[in-house]
Amino acid sequence: MLDLSNFDLSSIPVKDSMIDAEIVAHVQLQNPLEHALLVLTKTGYNAVPVLDLESKFCGIISKSNIVEEMFGIEQIEVSRLHEKKVEDVMESDVPTITEQDSLEKALHILINYSFVCVVDEEEKMQGIYTRREILKQIRNEFYRQQSK
Ligand code: AMP
Repeated sequence: MLDLSNFDLSSIPVKDSMIDAEIVAHVQLQNPLEHALLVLTKTGYNAVPVLDLESKFCGIISKSNIVEEMFGIEQIEVSRLHEKKVEDVMESDVPTITEQDSLEKALHILINYSFVCVVDEEEKMQGIYTRREILKQIRNEFYRQQSK
């Protein structure tokens, strides 16, 4: 059985296993929703970070944010995708972590979000930390125990 009693998440630094900003798909505040939907569809992600022109993290946009916006009173109105911008529908009150934080802080945030953005002191995105990474850490601990 997996015994996590000696597994200290607070001692594992975030930067050791985050996905670097260079390979994180993102959209910008001023992009039309049409562009955001294209990025989400092509990457296959449910949600991606929203950045401003200085790469500062501003929030998260998801497919469901966009689909909800498309619903008019009587029908789906695709024209709204040209009219509205990412900043109009994104979720902006989103917690972040820094590279100095431990995985323990990330774990709490990842209960409600599928990823958490890692930012520097100017709020610029350095990368993201995902649920998959937390699960990998736990799996690795499992194999470490088995090999003892
Ligand atoms: P995962 O735990 O790997 O399923 O990832 C959780 C979520 O993190 C995904 O559903 C995406 O919203 C986001 N994500 C993962 N990798 C990337 C990436 N390279 N670029 C943008 N978003 C990502």
